[in-house]
Amino acid sequence: MNFYSTNSPTVEVPFKEAVFNSLPQDRGLYMPVSIPQLDAGFIENLDKYSLSEIAFEVAKTLLSDSVAEDDLKAIINDAINFEAPVVKLEEDVYVLELFHGPSLAFKDFGARFMSRIMSYFLRDGEQLLDVLVATSGDTGGAVALGFLGVPNTRVTILFPKGKVSPIQEQQLTTNGKNIRAIEVDGTFDDCQALVKQAFTDAELNKKFRLTSANSINIARLIPQTFYYFNAYAQLLRQGKTEVTFCVPSGNFGNIGAGLLAWKLGLPVKQFIAATNANDTVPAFLNTGVYEPKPSVQTLSNAMDVGNPSNWVRIAEMFKGDTAELKQLVQGVSYTDAQTIEAINQVYSQYNYVVCPHTAIAWKALKDYQAGHPDDKSAGVFLATAHACKFPDVFPDEIHAAIVVPESVKEMQGKLPVVSTMGNDFDGFKWWLMENA
Ligand SMILES: *Cc1c(COP(=O)(O)O)cnc(C)c1O
Repeated sequence: MNFYSTNSPTVEVPFKEAVFNSLPQDRGLYMPVSIPQLDAGFIENLDKYSLSEIAFEVAKTLLSDSVAEDDLKAIINDAINFEAPVVKLEEDVYVLELFHGPSLAFKDFGARFMSRIMSYFLRDGEQLLDVLVATSGDTGGAVALGFLGVPNTRVTILFPKGKVSPIQEQQLTTNGKNIRAIEVDGTFDDCQALVKQAFTDAELNKKFRLTSANSINIARLIPQTFYYFNAYAQLLRQGKTEVTFCVPSGNFGNIGAGLLAWKLGLPVKQFIAATNANDTVPAFLNTGVYEPKPSVQTLSNAMDVGNPSNWVRIAEMFKGDTAELKQLVQGVSYTDAQTIEAINQVYSQYNYVVCPHTAIAWKALKDYQAGHPDDKSAGVFLATAHACKFPDVFPDEIHAAIVVPESVKEMQGKLPVVSTMGNDFDGFKWWLMENA
């Protein structure tokens, strides 16, 4: 399968090039030139397959001519080595837990698959691949742990000083090996600006083979379709054939993957895009006007995005049929006060702790179900991260109920290694040259 840029549909590149470029020169986004339908017999019998078998079938449909099948299978088994269970909370309300990977967020699916795909395409003797990534928290952890120990790669993570949670910071700074962490005295935007400038710096590009690992890489989108199919498989086992997915959304990569799964043939009745106050997409779905805005800070900060970078992909999939898109996808937005209220309600109703992003999705699902009593589909809201990554938002009683995974306790015993710098590019460049 070749991939085209949404800005120049006639120019196609092979998968390898789409992965290493990340972003096409023309600033569009890569999309597969065609989206084939999976075999109907496979979909009907999804309940008979495991997550890794499902992942292989789906990936093969898009990538069989780009990655040898045995290698693809090995990459999937190595990358997706954790579960994505669907847990029933009440009749027709299920949570899809996507936080069982090493960084405790759904971004592990994309980051781990992408890192192994990049490593696969790096031939013996090729120059070391230098991955630069700016993070506000979750992306950096997933990318660091995704690339940890992957041969012929090195990751440099920039994060804003004092603006990530303690567990997030440990995930960035305690890895060692091929992972380096830099604490920048500045904001996330400063970190992003430093990375962007590095990509345009002639001297750095001459010396290093630089690549970015941001969420618009097509190799991060594809593996995120796997858990939608696998969630459906689990519902089939419970006798459910109709499903509504409710997705906490920021850059719209996660729900974009869900819509790609739908295009590939997954029967989904309804998608709900749930956002915080950064409501660019819900506003568009309700009014028809797409108006990007500066992001505003909220408690669900992994979704503080005013101009979602993956939206272009979704628009592309529904090109010329906005009516279909509006019917399939509902958009809703909630305030911080509603987020806290939802965290409390989920805890008191099910004795279950959700992170602030997940809380918004639960509320959106419940409000949708209340407004559509005739819709008997199983409602699944996506739990995008483990609550322990966002300790500051919880009232004491709920905070105390969070069960911190063993992996976090192990990490807490390790010594952090971190470089610190200001937000000026000269300092960053000097550091990269000195630490070549
Ligand atoms: C990244 C992230 C999101 C937003 O996902 P998008 O794919 O950017 O829409 C939601 N919740 C958590 C916990 C995240 O880390």
